[in-house]
Amino acid sequence: MSRYWSAVVHGLTPYVPGEQPKLADLVKLNTNENPYGPSPRVLEAIRGGTSDALRLYPDPLATELREAIAGFHGLDAAQVFVGNGSDEVLAHAFLALLKHETPILFPDIGYSFYPVYARLYGIAYREVPLTDAFEIRVEDYFRANGGIVFPNPNAPTGRLLALGEIERLLQANRDSAVVIDEAYIDFGGASAVPLIERHPQLLVVHTLSKSRALAGLRVGYALGHPDLIAGLVRVKDSFNSYPLDRLALAGGIAAMQDTAWFDATRKQIMASRENLATGLKALGFEVLPSAANFVFARHPGARGETLAARLREKRIIVRHFRTPERIADFLRITVGTEAQCATLLAAFEEILAACRALG
Ligand SMILES: *Cc1c(COP(=O)(O)O)cnc(C)c1O
Repeated sequence: MSRYWSAVVHGLTPYVPGEQPKLADLVKLNTNENPYGPSPRVLEAIRGGTSDALRLYPDPLATELREAIAGFHGLDAAQVFVGNGSDEVLAHAFLALLKHETPILFPDIGYSFYPVYARLYGIAYREVPLTDAFEIRVEDYFRANGGIVFPNPNAPTGRLLALGEIERLLQANRDSAVVIDEAYIDFGGASAVPLIERHPQLLVVHTLSKSRALAGLRVGYALGHPDLIAGLVRVKDSFNSYPLDRLALAGGIAAMQDTAWFDATRKQIMASRENLATGLKALGFEVLPSAANFVFARHPGARGETLAARLREKRIIVRHFRTPERIADFLRITVGTEAQCATLLAAFEEILAACRALG
């Protein structure tokens, strides 16, 4: 606290990111990073970018990267906005598209950055409860709103909302923006991107952090009608004209072009996810169906907090959320390599045996 702080700063409740511990020999399954690393072509492109040209500002329009993204999705560059991670893209979307008189809507269990942005920008919001099966029911969003935002697949549940349901939502909600955060869509879900052509209120947000293994580079993007994109650009150019540096642009372009690496690694992660879910169920866990690179699971015989603490003693870290109450016994576990998943399952087996011995 400082008397020099503004009233706004006094009122903030910042997002708390997952831990990035210094210890090297941890099995780190807490922040949904990709265990396989970026394409070698990305590293080569970044190395190629380390030259005297760094004295020059990067392209403020990120034209080449936007063209590469547009090419990948079969869209026009005018339908693409890029930012410093999808977190920044989302933040700009809150200010550009979601700040109106009427409260916005998002699920009560979802990405916990949404209420943080809403409070930062003074946007009223209503949290819409997921069903008992932790699903989004689109009818719950058929009411007056200043905008709608949700992750699909949802985080931290991993559950996917089917494209037909999204279409029903878009048909019922034409007067405000619908922002779909598809951070995990490349792990098996059907993307809403094809709906952009018919729905000018739809903004789809993607990141290179998960399926393209570039969390450290900070590249995210949004796809939508050129008028939505122009609104985001107005916010960007009122904040930071150069959110992506030359190295991020070079690496991002190469990442969008290397589809072979992208497909091979995401398929491996999807296969490992199914093995991990099967292994967890064999140990007695309830595992929600996941279309992401993590699973959300709880065990009837042990508290979530206890399991997370015991895993940590074995140098394995996963994500545990104390609130809301109904997910307090779940753990969100990133799908690692096959070896990491095996280490995790072996650790759970020992921990659960010890729990049973204690009664
Ligand atoms: C990881 C994640 C993001 C943020 O990704 P960055 O591009 O790294 O900022 C956004 N939304 C959800 C739901 C995420 O899990």
